[in-house]
Amino acid sequence: MRRRRKREVETARRVLHPESRMMSYGYRPEWSEGALKCPIFQTSTFVFQSAEEGKAFFEVAYGLRTQGPSEVLGLIYSRLNNPDLEILEDRLTVWDDAEACAVFDSGMAAISTVLLQFLGPGDVVLHSEPLYGGTDYLIHHVLPRFGVRSVGFPAASSREEIDAILKADAAGGRLALIYAETPANPTNALVDLSACSELARVHSSVDRRVLLVVDNTFLGPLWQHPLKHGADLVVYSATKYIGGHSDLIAGACVGPADLMRSVRTLRTFLGNMADPWTGWLLLRSLETLKLRMTCQKKNAARVGEFLQDHPKVARTYYLGHLGPDDAQFAVYRRQCLGAGAMISFDLAGGQEQAYRFLNALKLVKLAVSLGGTESLAEHPSTMTHADVAPEEQRRMGITPSMVRLSVGVEHPDDIVADLEQALASA
Ligand SMILES: *Cc1c(COP(=O)(O)O)cnc(C)c1O
Repeated sequence: MRRRRKREVETARRVLHPESRMMSYGYRPEWSEGALKCPIFQTSTFVFQSAEEGKAFFEVAYGLRTQGPSEVLGLIYSRLNNPDLEILEDRLTVWDDAEACAVFDSGMAAISTVLLQFLGPGDVVLHSEPLYGGTDYLIHHVLPRFGVRSVGFPAASSREEIDAILKADAAGGRLALIYAETPANPTNALVDLSACSELARVHSSVDRRVLLVVDNTFLGPLWQHPLKHGADLVVYSATKYIGGHSDLIAGACVGPADLMRSVRTLRTFLGNMADPWTGWLLLRSLETLKLRMTCQKKNAARVGEFLQDHPKVARTYYLGHLGPDDAQFAVYRRQCLGAGAMISFDLAGGQEQAYRFLNALKLVKLAVSLGGTESLAEHPSTMTHADVAPEEQRRMGITPSMVRLSVGVEHPDDIVADLEQALASA
């Protein structure tokens, strides 16, 4: 396979839909002995044809000069570039209509690399609450060691409320980055991305741009495209819907070429890129991404309908249940293309009822993580959010009777029947 570069393999003059491009975009069989599928390039290093060529590749890779207009660059070493990862990155840009992508060996690797790249001593990161546990720990326990402070705002806040929280923060420092996770886990509360983007613009100066970074793991890359709502960078745990089979750990970041160049550079030096085998598995996963996420969304609608009417369910937290009377409905209509497949609900009673329900499930597995083909259930208060103090949990709306469901691709009748028998035991 000689040098490939992002080059559309178009079968027609019209631009194909993303799901049609997942099988071939960025790869040509003639590069690999006619192989229909891209092989796994399980190699650490690549052979240069001449010393001059090696010198030229390194000059560009290390930023000693920029790539010439007609210059074709080759591969160097799998920490810098690898065909499986480059093809995967090209395909991941398609869904979000992004210029560039970098894949990582976990969602946390993507998130930590972005935050370390764009934050420094004296900076403040403004973030939505609640956050994924790992991100929360990173922001509150790791970044302070590098002189970075944080200010949190509840996910469902209005622009005015976020402004007020920021103004009330008297500890000093310069706002450098806004980090939003929407919908929030496990309550499905939405962050208004347009409001955050406006705020980032207002606080930017000529010499310092305030960036908006969005964790799009829950709805992306199908049902929400944050770059279209003012986000500068989008991060993913590819472990979830993108991988989709609960058999790998990976992460991704997409955004404009200039910002992604610096993210990729730090990735080179932290060495936290995905490996070729994981890259290959993700290429395979992308072929069924739309199929899976569409089925999961449809199944979730059915599960939501069932839970809403059940006497043992006190409350549901599901985007598909938002109506025109809800304060968040306008945000939902503006920035989400679908309700996704994450549903939380409170059982009538407390933790005891939630545990009885979880212990009675048969088809739905009792496990954390989400977005895979199989339906999963967990107890946020004592599992994913166990390190959030009880009073903080109350403030965030995480109750002792709350169960979080990730709806899979099983037959919806089977999922509902399992929930029904487990509710009967609760
Ligand atoms: C799982 C998850 C992460 C972390 O991803 P890993 O792949 O486990 O490192 C980050 N954000 C959200 C919203 C997640 O669900």
